[in-house]
Amino acid sequence: MTITPYGSLRSHGAGTLRLDDVDTEVALAGWVATRRDHGGVAFLDLRDRSGLVQVVADPEVSAALEAAHRVRTEWVVRVTGTVRARPEGMVNDKLATGQIEVAAHDIEVLSEAATPPFPVEDTIEVSEELRLAHRYVDLRRPRMAEILTLRSRATSVIRRVMEEHGFLDVETPMLTRATPEGARDFLVPSRLQPGESYALPQSPQLFKQLLMVAGVERYYQIARCFRDENLRADRQPEFTQLDVELSFGDQEDVLGITEEVLVAAWRETLGVEVATPFPRLTYAEAMARFGSDKPDLRIDGLELADLDAVFADTEVGVFKGVLASGGSVVALALPGGGSLTRKRFDDLVEWAKRRGAKGLAWGVVEDGGTLRSPLSKFMSDAEVAGLIQTTGAVPGDAVFFGAGPTSFARELMGALRNHLAAEHDLIGEGFAFCWVVDAPMFEPVEDRGEAVGTTAWTPVHHPFTAPTSEWIDGFEQAPGEARSNAYDVVCNGYELGGGSIRIHDREVQARVFRFLGISDEVAEERFGFLLRGLSHGAPPHGGIALGLDRLVMLLADATSIRDVIAFPKTQSGSCPLTDAPAPYEPTALRDVGLRLLPAPAAG
Ligand code: ASP
Repeated sequence: MTITPYGSLRSHGAGTLRLDDVDTEVALAGWVATRRDHGGVAFLDLRDRSGLVQVVADPEVSAALEAAHRVRTEWVVRVTGTVRARPEGMVNDKLATGQIEVAAHDIEVLSEAATPPFPVEDTIEVSEELRLAHRYVDLRRPRMAEILTLRSRATSVIRRVMEEHGFLDVETPMLTRATPEGARDFLVPSRLQPGESYALPQSPQLFKQLLMVAGVERYYQIARCFRDENLRADRQPEFTQLDVELSFGDQEDVLGITEEVLVAAWRETLGVEVATPFPRLTYAEAMARFGSDKPDLRIDGLELADLDAVFADTEVGVFKGVLASGGSVVALALPGGGSLTRKRFDDLVEWAKRRGAKGLAWGVVEDGGTLRSPLSKFMSDAEVAGLIQTTGAVPGDAVFFGAGPTSFARELMGALRNHLAAEHDLIGEGFAFCWVVDAPMFEPVEDRGEAVGTTAWTPVHHPFTAPTSEWIDGFEQAPGEARSNAYDVVCNGYELGGGSIRIHDREVQARVFRFLGISDEVAEERFGFLLRGLSHGAPPHGGIALGLDRLVMLLADATSIRDVIAFPKTQSGSCPLTDAPAPYEPTALRDVGLRLLPAPAAG
């Protein structure tokens, strides 16, 4: 049996025809992109996935011309005809098929179409709601079709690299139990066990670990994950990860395979060579130098400077207070920033306040090493000199400095770094990857705003992450200092993925649960299957998960992950296409033994 490349209704893809095909008889089918009807002659642009070609209905072929008069945009037609060179002066250089056209012998209408809700063009000014409601039309736009193709290419490259390295693609359940990745679970009520529910997986984490216990040794999956979060900027309630786990290896193995996957994906979709090994920063270094655990290394410089020593004996009230309570003063120099207007400085102060800062101090370094600043009359000469020296500022530069609890001050100045770089065009071209390693094992629940257990500490990664060897015996005593064997991969300021070496010792896992305030009883009830697995011969193992949507977004240079997902949800988690989520059917509720409470009051 031969499989035709374009389906048996067609001989060619519309976008594939070139001068070499002149005089070829072709059968094409696709959508009418545009129609220009001059009465005696009509032109149709025919679009299919491969591109666009101009079809001409000449007056001599009256049946074709009649059909061309009748068709409308987005109708589906089949055209038979002959490829011919376009007459001199009619060549369209912007179109891949611009040197030829197809003289129609016959135009057959396969399907009529309602007037499209918006034009099928790359530059359209329509609401996302409308685009998503008619996603089948939206995805016909060349840019969207290109992104879908890119995504498919990227996943196939990823699969190939994983398979080459002996990773097995294993599917894990969608109907399962809670997997704590720090979000709420989506629940699916069970009809056969009324009163009970499944959870949709936040990630395949525990299953992939159990696959290691099972002797799979190298696992990967392009896995759908579900997290019921208050949707922040660019999150989706369901998203896709490249999920990876390996046994008998260490951090180097995981980092190595991840780099290889990313290098291949970039090379084979964009033709871009990404240099390896990616630079590695410790978490502490990333926070101190860039005020972020996902630093954008395309920005050259603009590194943060710690001014605690400079202001140790200061008389500047705010700094004195902050330092006395264990906080920090953190600064950043903006080259050439001295030319900013007073209004710009005021705007930046407002910007900082909107982010929760009490204020933002600033100054301009002048010739002779003095500082022009609303604060300069309160600062000693030594402080001014220290500030200039520590930030490396030179005359003509602006310096900004913020104070507060250390992590707050760093994150504020890190955000300012990104903000200034974007405004002043200081973000370099291309892709800057790095690893952030050696993350803390735990962080205070109050910093994170959510907890896995009941104590004041919560895992930075997840509770299955192994402490570094020197912390295995003592993490409980110094939870704020303990480091974990976790790593994140970052590209252009986005966290592309993260993972860790796991705890494979049942006792250590039980201690982590206990430390987090998960009693043995609760641990047994929630994670008993993992603990039992770990006691049946668990190899040392670790892995990573990469956010596939974000990865494709970077490859496609798209601005939102919604643009790289065929059928995404809106920011409020609904689907304008299907109108999901939908009200419960009373009978469906009865089947699963549930009754609705009155709707919670708004707000
Ligand atoms: N399961 C983790 C996550 O989804 C990734 C990993 O640790 O491999 O973030």
